[in-house]
Amino acid sequence: MNGIRPSSGAKACLVCGDTRWSEVRSYASPDVYEKTVGVTAEGYWRQWVKCDGCGLHYSRYSRGDGVLDDLYRADYRDKAAAWRGGASTRDIFAKVIALPPEQSETKERVAWIKGEIAALEAAGIVKRRAGARRLLDIGGATGVFAYEFRDAEWLSHVIDPAETGRFLETDHGIPYRQQDYAPGAFDAPFDLVSMIFVLEHLREPEAALRAARDDVTAGGLLYIEVPDALAFAHKPPEDDIFCSCHLWMFDPLSLTALIHRAGFEVASLRRTTTRRGHLALRALAVRP
Ligand SMILES: [Zn+2]
Repeated sequence: MNGIRPSSGAKACLVCGDTRWSEVRSYASPDVYEKTVGVTAEGYWRQWVKCDGCGLHYSRYSRGDGVLDDLYRADYRDKAAAWRGGASTRDIFAKVIALPPEQSETKERVAWIKGEIAALEAAGIVKRRAGARRLLDIGGATGVFAYEFRDAEWLSHVIDPAETGRFLETDHGIPYRQQDYAPGAFDAPFDLVSMIFVLEHLREPEAALRAARDDVTAGGLLYIEVPDALAFAHKPPEDDIFCSCHLWMFDPLSLTALIHRAGFEVASLRRTTTRRGHLALRALAVRP
């Protein structure tokens, strides 16, 4: 089933540059996110394909490239929350940070990352810098990760184009920049930069990782979490993981290749299932 859709300038694979692909899933009408920004059924098509060269899964679609950008700027999260029952980002934040450790996806994630960092330091792969350590969470307007990560050693910072995250600074003293990500938005580099379920939304994930590299100290760390392409074998086509907002579905090979191309070395990689049942890939990488 190769090449059956009109091509808007034969996109080459992000990871290996191959232009050949095979269709894995296709959709005949706009999903809820596309409808939100006014995409109609007329002339609509969308498909998930698998690169014949390296196996990276990526989305091809009839809508214009920048059409979904509004979702991340305006009120996407609060609208998405409304579909789930009306709670605001602030309400969800309050509810989630009150969860006991065994029910909190974020607490488990934080514990995993800190455990891996401790192990990498013990192994001499990562050198511990003296003094307070700094985290930058890119795309973390929900605030839970930045809040849970902060402790006696770590200071958290967040950058996200959404207005909804401003409460982090006003209510919790977590420095917040409301803007599209660009390095240097804060006054000093970071020991750890995180992008949790962010890369799959970006049209140019490699450029974003390269930019993030400028915000990481030499010997510092990058944490990436993305949906796992294993979902194609385990989840039905209508699962939200295959929604129009997601442009790429990585596997260990393609994620490692992308991170490497952006100037990091993967130090730890794990396939996992989040507490909400999402198949996910976690990578902790070092800036050499
Ligand atoms: Zn490829």
